[in-house]
Amino acid sequence: MARFVMKFGGTSVANIALLERIADRVQQVQKAGHEAVLVVSAMGHETDRLVTLAEAVDFQSLATRRELDVLLATGEQVTIALLAMMLLKKGLAAKSYQGHQVRILTDDAHSRARVLSVETEELERDLSQHIVPVIAGFQGVAPNGWTTTLGRGGSDTTAVAVAAALNADECQIFTDVDGVYTTDPRVVSEARCMTRITFEEMLELASSGSKVLHTRAVEIANKNQVSLRVLSSFNEVAGTLITTEDNIMMEAPLISGIAFTRDEAKLTLRGVKDQPGIASSILAPISEANIEVDMIVQNIGADFSTDFTFTVARADFELAQSILTAVSERIGAQEVLGDERIAKLSIVGVGMRSHAGVAAQMFDILANESINIQMISTSEIKISVVIDEKYLELAVRALHAGFGLEADPGAESV
Ligand code: ADP
Ligand code: ASP
Ligand code: MG
Repeated sequence: MARFVMKFGGTSVANIALLERIADRVQQVQKAGHEAVLVVSAMGHETDRLVTLAEAVDFQSLATRRELDVLLATGEQVTIALLAMMLLKKGLAAKSYQGHQVRILTDDAHSRARVLSVETEELERDLSQHIVPVIAGFQGVAPNGWTTTLGRGGSDTTAVAVAAALNADECQIFTDVDGVYTTDPRVVSEARCMTRITFEEMLELASSGSKVLHTRAVEIANKNQVSLRVLSSFNEVAGTLITTEDNIMMEAPLISGIAFTRDEAKLTLRGVKDQPGIASSILAPISEANIEVDMIVQNIGADFSTDFTFTVARADFELAQSILTAVSERIGAQEVLGDERIAKLSIVGVGMRSHAGVAAQMFDILANESINIQMISTSEIKISVVIDEKYLELAVRALHAGFGLEADPGAESV
């Protein structure tokens, strides 16, 4: 007997017919003698619809974040009730749970809360009585009892946290593609579905924009050794197993995948004095406003003045720009420049550790397409660049072909 946590994303629960398919699948799992715990997202684009409603009132201010979470959590509540009803109709025992009813305890950072613990007593009791718990993804409860949400895409994190707490044999993330691809298959049709990928690489891909898995989900799975699989709710495929490096037998390819995001914006403070403490006097007010900074570049010009450039989430751009304008006046910088039309593109692969020259190869491929690189950052297994947004798709396709990602590395070595 195995215990599965099965998570179904928005497209997979978009209508009643799809809920019926899920119920049939769960019935098969139970018939085979296994246990199933379900975690579901809001139906279709419901969360987007709710966000749009919130935007019409007030979205940006910190003051309304508590209410935003109350609003967004309604999406998942609809799905758990309907799916539990569908399971009951099929003759299965099922019970829906909101985050606070399971007691998925989080911190109080509204709209991006982190899971602290998951209570399992009642879920274990359900399972021992062959009841299928149907849990709302994406939502939890803060210590003071208020509803929280885990950030967009956060249902994956709920699933992995529940799987870790229940010691599940596998956490299965059912989605609208066959697994984790070398890059977003909706952008590059030659993208290849991988049978396995390391936690480390998946973490870098997710945190660099591959929304197929929520970053925190990969972190929690890695930390708690949860066996994590991404698979299709529409096709019968084995999907992609996220695993440790030891379990990947073949020689690691140079590059495993390409991630990208349009969700960042760039700010530059021109003509800053080159002296100690300047970076902190620029970034301290930004972090005080709860704005996360991603890439940072500082370079000294011939006149010993400095240009200080960094990127923030696009949603934080206007606030960051106004803070920077005040900073600029205070420290006597020349001007503040902002650019929202940028994209960040990252190549990821553990094979980079043992091979020099990957960055040069990447820059060469981009140069051949006449794509200008505005910023660069690297980690041990990742190289990221910022480019003009309008060249993003061209760049992703060129890199995918240039690094030979469409070819199956397993097949080549035979
Ligand atoms: P769900 O609603 O099931 O959580 P998401 O939309 O959050 O689904 O994630 C699945 C989507 O992620 C796919 O439809 C695909 O467009 C996108 N995606 C981005 N990068 C990748 C990748 N490397 N592999 C697979 N899908 C990716
Ligand atoms: N419904 C939430 C969202 O759209 C959470 C999720 O689907 O993972 O972001
Ligand atoms: Mg998702």
